[in-house]
Amino acid sequence: MYADIDRILISHQRIADKVQQLAAQITADHSPDKLNGGEVTILPIMTGAMIFCADLIRNIPIAMQIGLMTVSSYPGQSTRSQGAQLLANRLGNVRNRHVLILDDILDSGGTLRAVTPLIHQAGAASVKTCVLLRKDRPVAMQTHVDYVGFDIPDEFVVGYGLDYNDYYRNLPDIVTLRPQVLAGQKKNV
Ligand code: 5GP
Ligand code: MG
Repeated sequence: MYADIDRILISHQRIADKVQQLAAQITADHSPDKLNGGEVTILPIMTGAMIFCADLIRNIPIAMQIGLMTVSSYPGQSTRSQGAQLLANRLGNVRNRHVLILDDILDSGGTLRAVTPLIHQAGAASVKTCVLLRKDRPVAMQTHVDYVGFDIPDEFVVGYGLDYNDYYRNLPDIVTLRPQVLAGQKKNV
């Protein structure tokens, strides 16, 4: 698995520092006085946001429920979005709740554009969005998002939850893969 890495873009230490900063910001913005007695639901978009969510929420000391949605845009060996497809919905009851959608990465914006209206339709009191990574391309920069961890170059990345053909999610750092691996010629997973 490690032999397939081209370069480390963001180390696990930098990720950990950023997750703490994001959690502090989110905690401050969701204090009881700001929510008017409302409650919070965190909605990680599976599967990519799983590890980000697990680390983030353990640094947010407020009452919360977790909902789940599975959306796929990069099925199998795709490295460009094929359009966001809702595969499974375990949202729970979000009526009158303040929902924070978490995603690993903002690329075309299709995922957030697909999910956000569904949460409004389900009766949420408010909907905010948080991504760990945002690609430096116009369509991503023009997509509204409330919290962003890192802006990164417009490259295909894996690790810390992000996959290629469902592999590499367990890498602790965010990395690029060697071109031969993406071409499907060689994979040391
Ligand atoms: P969008 O819907 O904004 O185009 O892309 C968001 C989704 O596409 C993310 O949730 C993620 O699943 C996937 N994605 C986008 N860019 C990348 C990337 O560079 N690497 C990986 N592994 N997934 C990506
Ligand atoms: Mg995703």
